[in-house]
Amino acid sequence: MVTLDKIFSLCKRRGFIFPSSEIYGGFGGVYDFGPLGVEMKNNIKRLWWDEMIKFHENIVGIDAAILMSPKIWEASGHLTAGFADELVECKNCHKRFRGDEVKDLKCPECGGEITKSRKFNLMMKTFVGPVEDKSTLTYLRAETCQGIYVNFNNVLSSMRMKIPFGIAQIGKAFRNEINPKDFIFRTREFEQMEMQWFCHPKNADNFFDFWRDERIKWYYSLGIKKDEIRFKEVDSSERAHYAKRQVDIEYKFPFGWKEIEGIHNRGDWDLSNHSKHSRQDLMYFDQKTREKYFPYVIETSVGVERSLFAFLCAAYQEIKGGRTKTTKSSKDVEILLKLDKKISPFKVAILPLVKNKPGLTKIAKEIYQKLKLNFMVIYDEVGTIGRRYRRQDEIGTPYAITCDFETLKDNTVTIRDRDTMEQKRININEVNEEINKLLK
Ligand code: ATP
Repeated sequence: MVTLDKIFSLCKRRGFIFPSSEIYGGFGGVYDFGPLGVEMKNNIKRLWWDEMIKFHENIVGIDAAILMSPKIWEASGHLTAGFADELVECKNCHKRFRGDEVKDLKCPECGGEITKSRKFNLMMKTFVGPVEDKSTLTYLRAETCQGIYVNFNNVLSSMRMKIPFGIAQIGKAFRNEINPKDFIFRTREFEQMEMQWFCHPKNADNFFDFWRDERIKWYYSLGIKKDEIRFKEVDSSERAHYAKRQVDIEYKFPFGWKEIEGIHNRGDWDLSNHSKHSRQDLMYFDQKTREKYFPYVIETSVGVERSLFAFLCAAYQEIKGGRTKTTKSSKDVEILLKLDKKISPFKVAILPLVKNKPGLTKIAKEIYQKLKLNFMVIYDEVGTIGRRYRRQDEIGTPYAITCDFETLKDNTVTIRDRDTMEQKRININEVNEEINKLLK
C-alpha cells in the first residue's frame, strides 16, 4: 500500500526530491527537486502548457515577474484579512497550528491547551532597493494570476484578443504557511500553473462547468483513475475571498482526500479592483455589440508539486516477489512506478547484458549516444540485468533496450516493456523509430 513515508523515501533515494538545505538540518516547508524530479516537473509543466496553449483555442501565455508593486496586493485583497489563516499556539509545547487543524481546542501533538486564534497573513515580505523601510517593502507573489490581471490591457492590445479568451502562466508562488506538512503537499515555496479565462458575465456559469470538466479529463488522460479523483463544491464559508463559486479537484492521497486544483469564478473582483486602485480603465469594449463591461474570470489553478505528488501516488505499486529475477521470496517486494510515459523522467534505459564484454558495451553506448539526441535516455551497466530492470521499474522508465550476445551476431537488441515485461527483438537500425512509435 502506498504511504507518505514510502513515497518520501523513494523520492529521496532515487533523486526525485530532497529536503531543502539538508546539510544544515533542513529548512521548513521547502524542497529541492533532484535530477529525476526536475525532469518529471518539466514534463508536467510542458503537458499543461500544451494542453492550454496548443489544444485549446484562444489562450496565450505570459511570464510575469515574481516581484511586483505592493499596490497590487492591496488592490487584490491579499494584504487585508482576505489572505490570512487563523493561527493558534499550544500553551504547553508551543507548536503552532492553523485554526482548522485543531479539534476540541486541544493541541493535536501533546493535548495541551491552545491559545485564542489570531489572523496571520501568509504573504512573504521582502525589500527591494538598498534601504529597508516601508517605502521599499514588497511581497513575494502568493499567486501567479495577479501578474495576468495587471497585464490584461497589454495582452489585449498587443495580441488583439477578443473575448472569450485565456491567459496562461506557470511560475513560483510563496506562502508563509503556518504548518507546512505532508511532504510536498503544503510547502512555503511552490509552483502554480494558472489559466485565467476572460468572458462575458452572462457566460461565466457555462464556462465554469466547461473548464471544470476539461481539467479533470487532463488527470484521467495522464493515468489518474476515476475513483482516485473527485470534485468538491466549496461552500461560501470556505471559499477564497475573491470567489463567487469554487470547485476543488481533490485527489485521494494516503493522508486523505485533498485539493490539488481549484476552479474559481472570480467574477470581476480582480479587474474592477485593479481599475479602481490604478485608475486605469480595465474594462473590455465589444466592437460588435458596443457594450463595455468588466469581464468575469474563470480561473483554473493547480500546484505543480501537488499534481506531481498525486501522479507519484497513483503510479506507485508494490509487487510481491518474483517479478524480476532479483526477488524470489514472496516476502520481498518490488516497486513499480507505473507513471504515464509522458510524465516519466526517463523514456528509455540502455543496458548491456554484461559489462565486461567490450563489444557489447560499445554497441550499447553507441545506441545511447544516438537516442540521447531525441529522448531522455539513461545508460546503466552496473549489477545484474535483473537488478537493473528493477531499478528502472522503480523510477518509472517505460522501456529498456538490452544488448546481449545475439546482438554481436545479428545486430538485434531487445526492447522490454515496463508494465508487461514483454520483450521483443528488433534490429538496431530500427530502435529510434520503434521508440518514437511506442512513446506516441
Ligand atoms: P489550501 O486550501 O490547501 O491551502 P488553497 O485553496 O489556498 O489551498 P489556492 O489558493 O486555490 O489553494 O491555490 C491553487 C493551487 O495551488 C492549489 O490547488 C494547490 O495545488 C496549490 N497550492 C496552494 N498552496 C500551496 C502550498 N502551500 N503548497 C503547495 N501547493 C499549494
